[in-house]
Amino acid sequence: MFADCIVPLPLAGMFTYNVPTHLSQKVQVGCRVNVPFGHKKQYAALVARVHEEQPSYQTKDILAVLDEERMLLPNQLALWQWVAEYYMCTLGEVYKAAIPSGLKEKDGVVRYRPRTVEFVRLAEEYFDAHKLNSALAAMKAAPKQQLLMIRYIELGGVNAALTVGNPNILKEITREELLKAVGCSPTILKAVCERGLLEEYEKTIDRIPTAHIPTELVLQPLSEAQQIAMEQIKVSWREKDVCLLHGVTSSGKTEIYIHLINEMLAQGKQVLYMLPEIVLTSQLTDRLRKVFGDRLGVYHSRYTDAERVEVYRKQISDAPYDIIVGVRSSVLLPFQNLGMVIIDEEHETSFKQSEPAPRYHARNVALVMARMAGAKTLLGTATPSLESYGNAVTGKYGYVHLTTRFGNVCMPEIEVVDIAELKRKKLMNGPFSPLLLKEIRLALERKEQVILFQNRRGFAPVVECHVCGWTPQCPHCDVSLTFHKRTNQLTCHYCSFSTPVPQHCPQCDADRLSSKGYGTERIEDVLANIFPEARVARMDLDTTRSRSAYEGIIKGFQRGDTDILIGTQMVTKGLDFRKVSVVGILNASTMLNQPDFRSYERAYQMMTQVAGRAGRSAGSADQSVRPGHVILQVHDGGQPTVLQVVRGDYEAMFRTQMEERRLFSYPPVCRLVYVYMKHKDETVLDHLAEEMAGLLRQVFGQRVLGPDMPPIARVQTMYIRKVCLKLELTANMAEARRRLHEIQKYMTSKPEYKSAVIYYDVD
Ligand code: ADP
Ligand code: ZN
Ligand code: ZN
Repeated sequence: MFADCIVPLPLAGMFTYNVPTHLSQKVQVGCRVNVPFGHKKQYAALVARVHEEQPSYQTKDILAVLDEERMLLPNQLALWQWVAEYYMCTLGEVYKAAIPSGLKEKDGVVRYRPRTVEFVRLAEEYFDAHKLNSALAAMKAAPKQQLLMIRYIELGGVNAALTVGNPNILKEITREELLKAVGCSPTILKAVCERGLLEEYEKTIDRIPTAHIPTELVLQPLSEAQQIAMEQIKVSWREKDVCLLHGVTSSGKTEIYIHLINEMLAQGKQVLYMLPEIVLTSQLTDRLRKVFGDRLGVYHSRYTDAERVEVYRKQISDAPYDIIVGVRSSVLLPFQNLGMVIIDEEHETSFKQSEPAPRYHARNVALVMARMAGAKTLLGTATPSLESYGNAVTGKYGYVHLTTRFGNVCMPEIEVVDIAELKRKKLMNGPFSPLLLKEIRLALERKEQVILFQNRRGFAPVVECHVCGWTPQCPHCDVSLTFHKRTNQLTCHYCSFSTPVPQHCPQCDADRLSSKGYGTERIEDVLANIFPEARVARMDLDTTRSRSAYEGIIKGFQRGDTDILIGTQMVTKGLDFRKVSVVGILNASTMLNQPDFRSYERAYQMMTQVAGRAGRSAGSADQSVRPGHVILQVHDGGQPTVLQVVRGDYEAMFRTQMEERRLFSYPPVCRLVYVYMKHKDETVLDHLAEEMAGLLRQVFGQRVLGPDMPPIARVQTMYIRKVCLKLELTANMAEARRRLHEIQKYMTSKPEYKSAVIYYDVD
């Protein structure tokens, strides 16, 4: 007997192993087996097929069977195969993305029950820059201990905490994490603890919160508009599998989902409810748990691997969750009886994974999964993607439009401020126009809240020597480093390289470097100067590294502990705050000037979404809250996309953008495959790229563009080139993919290109 197995590696195809007689009863399709690989490696592979066809080569034996029960369903395997084929990656890569790493451990001992975790913290008496430094100096004779301490200081953000004098912002570091980062034995840590510098402590980690079954259903009655929309969705599902719910921000889409889920569960079917990562907050899960209790499972990438293993195991057991609320990767989970898929914020680009493979779009995978399962799909958004809206226009999808906010709340009023002119007239106060400052002041006086959106984290995107113009660049990527003032570091946002800010210019030795532009950190500082009494919070990647920090900021704002929330795109999505009356978009031009064919579409979506955070509660119910007011600062107030946002004219955006896509051949009017090539040596890469493009042209002719340099042409020391392939919607994609793989195989078989990396990005 032989078994074809999926090995969690980026290698094409499956691998056939011999099933030894003593295991023949246990090896089944879908279970994990321990297999040898190469000289001495072992992996937990998944059995995809069992048969008796002897391969032409010598097969190795399966070493052990890791599961009594199967870990992969046949329909799941079919979907994985579709993903691997369509997105031009390997099954092993899909396996890696789909299964939490706890289930890929080769020993099969899945350690997913530790409820207490050991942490390490700085002893209180050393929270003092002077004391800490002398202690470090005193460790000279013990370099390993010193190194451990230095790593701890870095990981824990000690410098930042010392700078602001607040020990509460120290990051929590697990013992394991620290030891791993230093690569030393526990005895070194023990020695440092004995010196009194660090302390170890234990903590119970709150995993999937113990839910309760609600004693009574807490379904809110739907408004008339919501009820009509829900009926229309169900009617459209009689004829079509997919329905687009186009409902303005705060129209109450979530409540409609809840009612639909409720009906689906009554029919004994399962539901997958997908959201972009940053929208999946406890704000939403609490709301769902109130209705569905422990029938609801949450699958989130911010959860620990152990929690994800638990959800995975439950989904494949006899008693799976009826509803999974999850992010992108939840589409790869096992479902045994799927009836409906909801994709909220379907326009969100974070549904597309860009790195690593599989570079899949979770919305599209979900659509395929639903079709395979005979389930219905609901796409919900206030700002549909051109793809989905286009499908609604042609009648491929059903379409339901909700044009009013719940509770007859007004849509926010959007005012455009031309900051180019104000800058010329020297009327700007840092990143703030006089109008925005006035609105913030009024909101603060009325005890209302403000959201400020700036799509750049850090203090300043560029640092410059004021004498010679030198700017620090990342040594590994072709980008300038961003200045982070709190940590006094220059950081690369592509590879996370970090270095302290130099005291002097390394080029001319001048002693002053000036910073240009505004990141979220700097806006926080400017704001503190202008409104010293305001309570300000910042939400960006730097302040939300841990799940609790992220939830903490949201909850603090919701409770009213914060007056002004500054943030990157994190604040644009799906959050529902009742007391926000003013939203400021500090510089819309940075969004409009992205080098991407989707940049206007995205800018429209982002501006509309962030504007939609304003004025979400009814004025009549709460007299103190006025209709929402949005100040949109931009360099060119007449820019068409900006005007479309102001008028709330989605149709116009759709028409003008489709026109451009038609004119220049971009999705959704054609199919797009980017062929990426990477190499450490730029000359070799240029040869490879030219040669590859030439071969592609022989097959695809004019449909091939490039090679080009992508906007960031070097990341993590690898140079990058890109060839763009545009295919007609009617093209035979299977054949196109076959030819692409063929050319790739030929190229990488050449000795000079052996270490090149070639991969694809589809759509
Ligand atoms: P959307 O997802 O369309 O932006 P939400 O579903 O978040 O909108 O609804 C906006 C607000 O209106 C929320 O605070 C929500 O609680 C409230 N809401 C929506 N529908 C109802 C309803 N049927 N009954 C009570 N409150 C509702
Ligand atoms: Zn200089
Ligand atoms: Zn870098």
